[in-house]
Amino acid sequence: MAIAIAGLALALLPVVVFAHGPHAHGKGELELTIQGSAIRGAFRTPMDSLLGFEHLPRTEAQRNSVDQLRQRLANPSAVVTPNPEANCTPRMSEATSALFTGAARGEHSDLEVRFSFECASPTGLKTLEVTALKDFKRLLEVHLQLVTERGQRAVVLKKKDPLVVIAR
Ligand SMILES: [Zn+2]
Repeated sequence: MAIAIAGLALALLPVVVFAHGPHAHGKGELELTIQGSAIRGAFRTPMDSLLGFEHLPRTEAQRNSVDQLRQRLANPSAVVTPNPEANCTPRMSEATSALFTGAARGEHSDLEVRFSFECASPTGLKTLEVTALKDFKRLLEVHLQLVTERGQRAVVLKKKDPLVVIAR
């Protein structure tokens, strides 16, 4: 019985233990799992990092910003972009926030985006650019947990170097 359980554990990829970090403006947390042709991810950051505010929109301009952000996040390339040689296609992107549902209370709120890509040429997957670091000027730092068939590693990405190199 013990042997069977050990065998099962070996067959699984390392499990990412993802502790919710503190609510820190300008910082984001990203989990990426690359397995076969699939890239799956989750990105979390305070809304302030993307919008410059976190309370429910009070003005027309703020309402527009929230709508635009929502539309932008419908494509996971707003968060990360695989190198083009891997021929990855966005499969899913689900953004959740109390700001989107109108349930935000007080001055602080967070965003979570869950997403996936399917890659037609997975052996061509060499890098992932954290597009969000490049495109959202208030987002300064992303703490990445990367899980591949080779193991798990933690990387801190900064604005000036938003590229993740995938060793496979
Ligand atoms: Zn905040």
